[in-house]
Amino acid sequence: MLDETAAYSLTARYVFPVAGPPLPGGCITVQGERIVAVEARSTANCIDLGNVALLPGLVNAHTHLEFSDCQKPLGRRGQPLPEWIREVIATRRSDARDPAAAIAAGLAESLQAGTTTVGEIATGGWTAESLSAAALDLTVFYELLGLPAERATERLADAARFVEESADARSWHPGISPHAPYSVHPELVVGLVRLAMAHRLPVAMHLAESPEEIELLTAGSGPFRDMLQVLGVWEPTAIPHGTHPLEYLQILAEAPRALVVHGNYLNIEELEYLAVHAERMTLVYCPRTHDYFGHRRHPLPKLMALGGRVALGTDSRASNPDLSLLAEMRHVARGFPELAPREVLRLGTIAGAQALGRAHEIGTLEPGKLANLAVIPLEELTAADPHELIFSSELAPTATYYRGRKIQRS
Ligand SMILES: [Zn+2]
Repeated sequence: MLDETAAYSLTARYVFPVAGPPLPGGCITVQGERIVAVEARSTANCIDLGNVALLPGLVNAHTHLEFSDCQKPLGRRGQPLPEWIREVIATRRSDARDPAAAIAAGLAESLQAGTTTVGEIATGGWTAESLSAAALDLTVFYELLGLPAERATERLADAARFVEESADARSWHPGISPHAPYSVHPELVVGLVRLAMAHRLPVAMHLAESPEEIELLTAGSGPFRDMLQVLGVWEPTAIPHGTHPLEYLQILAEAPRALVVHGNYLNIEELEYLAVHAERMTLVYCPRTHDYFGHRRHPLPKLMALGGRVALGTDSRASNPDLSLLAEMRHVARGFPELAPREVLRLGTIAGAQALGRAHEIGTLEPGKLANLAVIPLEELTAADPHELIFSSELAPTATYYRGRKIQRS
């Protein structure tokens, strides 16, 4: 039987601790589930992984694994969000779905892609068994929808039940997710944030994703209102005219941790608000999903310049071709050359860990943290900044370690 406590050391062309500068030929020593040493030089018994980058396991701060069986994104590129949501609703209603199998496929795909932490938005398909069996660091945000005011009590009771049932969770972390302003009554958002406060849970909410959402909030009109009317859930009093994402940010700021997902259309006042509350609030940017819908340029550099916190998510395979967080970082590095490559690496590692309240365990390679690692092959090139070797290439991770154990590739 494998000795789980035996220490081993790995060396690579570059070790990227993220907590400090890259270490050429650095060495990391693992014992059991944890990192016990990170050193600038390798020792004689170090296993040499060769021309690779050794990174902390990547953190995908936002996804919906129930759509991991999508072979390609739903709808079409550049489609307005309300139209795409109709496709999602039709897919959800299809008899042929097997959400549990899709989630299992999504977990496997994430691990293969070097991702060891996932912020999952859950509507169904998860069972107590699958949650405790997942060999991955999971925060499961229980998603709630309910625009009509009379549904709020029932939905709050659902959320309270989830929180109660997850009290014994050891291998995963619960969170709460009011879906979005166009699908959740503001009073329900307030109630859910209070529940999160009482139980010290993180909250994730889609916000300011599309121009159609902003139109609904400010003017109470547009394609979202039409869609909600067709669905029979439109309630004119639910969203008072002249509402802005800022009102939702102010509610979310009360949560122990808030993940504000997308934020594509936040204005400068709202970005400043996020920056002021950076200790507890993180904007989660989903780069390739943003690109799929053809949104205006993301305010990422503006928010970062203000001192705001940003993490990255893949969103789901319903709007993205795969679940590779590395591909998201590469997309950011290409699209925002003004950002230092080391900042881009932080977005996909420690920033996501901070967003989920897991930075004490993961997100950097430091003694005492969990030995979650991604191994990225490098090309035979040199670069003044070694981070560029990761982002200028298209090579996929070749190995992932989770809590010190190498994941077998399927
Ligand atoms: Zn999402």
